[in-house]
Amino acid sequence: AQIQSRGYAATKEVAKFPGTKGSDGKYTVSLIEGDGIGPEISQSVKDIFSAANAPVKWETISVDPVFKDGKQSIPDDAIASITRNYVALKGPLATPIGKGHVSLNLTLRRTFNLFANVRPCKSIQGYKTPYDNVDTVLIRENTEGEYSGIEHVVVDGVVQSIKLITRDASERVLRFAFQYAQDIGRLKVRAVHKATIMKMSDGLFLSCANEIAKDYPNVEFDAELLDNACLKIVSDPTPYNDKVLVMPNLYGDILSDMCAGLIGGLGLTPSGNIGDECSIFEAVHGSAPDIAGKGLANPTALLLSSIMMLQHMGLTEHASRIQAAIFKTLAEGKTITGDLGGKAKTHEYAEAVIKNL
Ligand code: NAD
Repeated sequence: AQIQSRGYAATKEVAKFPGTKGSDGKYTVSLIEGDGIGPEISQSVKDIFSAANAPVKWETISVDPVFKDGKQSIPDDAIASITRNYVALKGPLATPIGKGHVSLNLTLRRTFNLFANVRPCKSIQGYKTPYDNVDTVLIRENTEGEYSGIEHVVVDGVVQSIKLITRDASERVLRFAFQYAQDIGRLKVRAVHKATIMKMSDGLFLSCANEIAKDYPNVEFDAELLDNACLKIVSDPTPYNDKVLVMPNLYGDILSDMCAGLIGGLGLTPSGNIGDECSIFEAVHGSAPDIAGKGLANPTALLLSSIMMLQHMGLTEHASRIQAAIFKTLAEGKTITGDLGGKAKTHEYAEAVIKNL
């Protein structure tokens, strides 16, 4: 019941830095609309927040890459906005494949030291999938691993990508996971790893997990191999409903998309990138170039990310009200988007949510 009432919580307590409240009682939140379907789904969030009288003012910023001293960064005013507001909502950002600029998602996570990525994935009541009881919570290390961006050509035809695992980053995300498990009353933490093969890197992550577990005697701790976890979750997700899964970066990226597939796809899964000060909330999905600009996108994932954001800011009543309207609209099944088998356009779905507020 406690988990239910917390909804899509990013942390139990209101964040230490829940945003900056103005004299009008409204919080200013940085908004990165993003690429592809980003502006369309951001519009739905803006419309629904405004109809729900959520006390949020959006400060729209661009994070188009700039180059300073030969290094890629994001514009100073975007950094200043997020630093000032502590909280941001972000649409997807496209990353060129195999060449071009470094992922701006990575740049943002590094710039603001957003070390933990919280990815809850819950079945949507009334929306039929092979399992109707999925309730996984996955915490992904967000700053290193295979995503450290250290790659080079050794000789022609031979390249190396370095998977970087540090004790500091591992301990930080593991401590976050144990604290999170305690906060939401889900008192089992499972580390997912491949230390059988990557004995040193995943081995370090796992040994850090065993150490941190000692500081949380009321939280049960165990570990599972990544391949086994994938097999088990798709065979029967129920045993994962009482656990918080924590894992290195790449595994979290892949496993969370797999979980999304179990509940109806990427249009439904939110996430929070949490740091010590700033936090950025975003959908798990990307910019969906195949459907961009056509009004076909499902804004639910970004909406649920904005619910996580409201929870994080302590605006729980607004979070619950908007969340209830989203779930009611999905359960009615009349006005849902194409990815869920419906015919509604993005804005029609948003209007139906507004009617259900
Ligand atoms: P994607 O998530 O954009 O799309 C995968 C599939 O899911 C597509 O068929 C798409 O139409 C569908 N889909 C995704 N979101 C949807 C939604 N809200 N409603 C309906 N259908 C939806 O993955 P991709 O095609 O591999 O990546 C496209 C771009 O997005 C790439 O440049 C990638 O780097 C980037 N990306 C960004 C983020 C991020 O900003 N956090 C995350 C993942 C991918």
